[in-house]
Amino acid sequence: MRIAFRKIALESSPFALHLDGVEFSGNFQRENDKVAIQATLKGTLELPCDRCGELFEELRNDTMKLKVHEGYYEGDDLDVIESHDHFVDFEKIAQSEIEAIRSQYHYCDKCKELEGE
Ligand SMILES: [Zn+2]
Repeated sequence: MRIAFRKIALESSPFALHLDGVEFSGNFQRENDKVAIQATLKGTLELPCDRCGELFEELRNDTMKLKVHEGYYEGDDLDVIESHDHFVDFEKIAQSEIEAIRSQYHYCDKCKELEGE
């Protein structure tokens, strides 16, 4: 799902897409030179346990606020995503959010129990 920057209005619009068993949905709207996105990522992700290395499934329900800037962004807001093709690509954003979750530390249930001892 891709939307051209110039078509994005000041009023908030809804979006929803499905990716790898995960639902990425929310609202987006224009905010000066950026597009502000409020999103929820809901669904089951397969994650590698950082302790035993086993893959396990975790039910996620993450909410996030993102901003997309058309072209190079020179400000100091770390949450701004640059877009270089004049489109906001929701699928790409969802993928990078999933990657960000995967790159955090995760422990499977067995290892969580061990951690609690
Ligand atoms: Zn484990």
